[in-house]
Amino acid sequence: MPTEAELVEKAAHYLYPNYRQPPFVIVRGKGCELWDKSGKRYLDFHGGIAVSTLGHAHPRLVEAVASQAAQVIHLSNYFYNEPNIQLAERLCQLTGLARAFFCNSGAEAMEGMLKLTRRYFFDKGQPDRYRIVAFDNSFHGRTLGALAATGQKKYRDGFGPLPGVTHVPYGDAGAVRAAMGPDVAGILFEPVQGEGGVLPAPPGFMAELRKIADEHGALLLADEIQTGIGRTGSFLAVAKDGVVPDAVALAKGLAGGVPIGAMLCGAHLAGVLPPGSHGSTFGGNPLASAAALAVLGALEDEKLMDNVKARSLELAAGLAELAKKHEKLIATSRGSGLLQALVLKDGVDPRSILERLREAGLLVSIAGASSLRFSPPLVIREAEVREALGIVDRILGGAA
Ligand SMILES: *Cc1c(COP(=O)(O)O)cnc(C)c1O
Repeated sequence: MPTEAELVEKAAHYLYPNYRQPPFVIVRGKGCELWDKSGKRYLDFHGGIAVSTLGHAHPRLVEAVASQAAQVIHLSNYFYNEPNIQLAERLCQLTGLARAFFCNSGAEAMEGMLKLTRRYFFDKGQPDRYRIVAFDNSFHGRTLGALAATGQKKYRDGFGPLPGVTHVPYGDAGAVRAAMGPDVAGILFEPVQGEGGVLPAPPGFMAELRKIADEHGALLLADEIQTGIGRTGSFLAVAKDGVVPDAVALAKGLAGGVPIGAMLCGAHLAGVLPPGSHGSTFGGNPLASAAALAVLGALEDEKLMDNVKARSLELAAGLAELAKKHEKLIATSRGSGLLQALVLKDGVDPRSILERLREAGLLVSIAGASSLRFSPPLVIREAEVREALGIVDRILGGAA
């Protein structure tokens, strides 16, 4: 058995160096706690980038994965499988949408949604209508199609050309109207810009986008990959504005950490991608579907969206207080549900604060240029919110 230090050395040698991991290896978790190989404990407000909906080693998810693995892991879409059919029904019930397409990641869900949009207008005899209006500072994934929609230079640089998308300022309905034209096929948005720095849509903005899309006969496309599955307190964050998009992309928290993506759409789009036009080898496999069913079951039975509401009030209030107390370092706090952030002042290095928090046993992530993102599992408890706020207070106090 290699030691932790040996593993870190092997990682530096063999893994493609496109990430920036700290020099330890996490070996297990329970609830919202993680332990590395040396036995050090971490409180997990990172949540695997807002993925670990049920925390770690949740008995219901463990049981679902283990028992499904013992039945059948994979078949491909040449055959039906029971958990996938059940999952499709449940997602349609939860969202008011009509159909579910399954894949393995957020970027793939985005690709499905973008291809659906192009093909919809192609079928209507408008093959030149494929432009997407999306937003500055957005993040939609790393594949070329999803990257074309992503409105941030740091992700796009060196990968062009990335055509077909017009980016306008987030929250600016006037700019969306100005960008519309007969060639616009869809308006694509995140209800909260997650990777962009945890920026919630202004109140009424999503409803305004619905209106603009309808006025132009364009599709309204919601990227709920980070905001969906109860993270903001409702199953989909678009519910805040009472909006039903034409299509929604889900991934991240849907199966609590087992890779999955889904594209849901309304009945009017059910005929757009007939057999042979789009697909995925692993998409909708029994293992990931069983995991997602366990997540959705726990979300309901453990009333996790009520927990999101209660814990996010405590977290948001605590972060607002810390922003005031440490005003030399913190510009503001913001967020929605259990997707919250402290926005650092210009000149404050988010990485150094992240590292000090980690040494003190708290895992968070950096979003955008200068935000510390708090995206804990939805099972987070009051005492854990208090513990996290205490650590942040102590580290910011020492950093001043
Ligand atoms: C994470 C994320 C994606 C990409 O998901 P992957 O699974 O990494 O491909 C797309 N959109 C949003 C809003 C995300 O947060």
